[in-house]
Amino acid sequence: MPPRRRGRFAPSPTGPLHLGSLLAAVGSYLDARAAGGDWLVRIEDVDRARESPGAADRILRTLEDFGLDWDGPVLRQSTRDAAYEAALARLAREDLVYYCSCTRAEIASAAAEARIATAPAARQRGVPPDAAEVRYPGRCRSGPARPGSRLAVRFRTVDFPAVTVVDRLQSALHQEVGATVGDFVLKRRDGFYAYQLAVVVDDAEQGITDVVRGLDLYDNTPRQRLLQAALGAPEPTYLHLPLVLEGTGAKLSKSHRALPADPAQAPLLLSTVLGWLRHPPPAVLRSAPVREQLAWAVDAWDIKLLQGVTSISAKE
Ligand code: GLU
Repeated sequence: MPPRRRGRFAPSPTGPLHLGSLLAAVGSYLDARAAGGDWLVRIEDVDRARESPGAADRILRTLEDFGLDWDGPVLRQSTRDAAYEAALARLAREDLVYYCSCTRAEIASAAAEARIATAPAARQRGVPPDAAEVRYPGRCRSGPARPGSRLAVRFRTVDFPAVTVVDRLQSALHQEVGATVGDFVLKRRDGFYAYQLAVVVDDAEQGITDVVRGLDLYDNTPRQRLLQAALGAPEPTYLHLPLVLEGTGAKLSKSHRALPADPAQAPLLLSTVLGWLRHPPPAVLRSAPVREQLAWAVDAWDIKLLQGVTSISAKE
């Protein structure tokens, strides 16, 4: 018998819940409940610098107002340092991590030099590097370049084969992590643990069998697969949901307050989000209480209805 399905919603408390995040919450809730499974909530507050005061509690209240009742206690990543440190120690014993002193500026300029040296057109034009897309060149792999400074911890990707992630909805994703992103950060120079490490350690701790989240996180999944393998953690299945785009084509972001999940309008907004998920409630239910709409959607849930949908316009 397959294990009981266990899903989760894992918001970062950087601001109030907006409709794009609500879609991920509703999708993961329906997917777990339709299989008779559990649905957990985890507050991803590893990055305390990006946290907005009071946002975590407000997000939890909003979930309640939308009828999204979770199982068990809420796990907060800010309480999990010991577990992340234990995972790093395990990786260190296998020589899968190393200390790195590189700053963002150093990495960007090393990448620029490499790119200008390898691309004649860029060399002629002196093209600046695309800092956001920089692959870590492995400068500290055999020891930190500046040992006395603050150090990050990076995962050594070199010995790992390419990863293929099979998604329940999207086409498979094939990635050579070492060649694409390089040795990625597990603990930052400022002392905070990185999302990639925390998400893998916590999905394992909470026994998550099915990760359901937004498509913007799909290309993080190969890194998470590598960490699961290295830590001997179970491998959940993945379902990446279409992104909600603003009229302009930009992703609805948390910093964008245009479409907050306003509890005062919960029935109307929930039926909109169910429509985006290609499960529009029948007309008689459209302004029904949220729990009635959700009960209908749990019965109706069928991810095949989302096949081929990669983005949703917020105007729909
Ligand atoms: N905390 C992440 C976010 O809010 C989601 C992480 C995940 O679902 O894996 O974007």
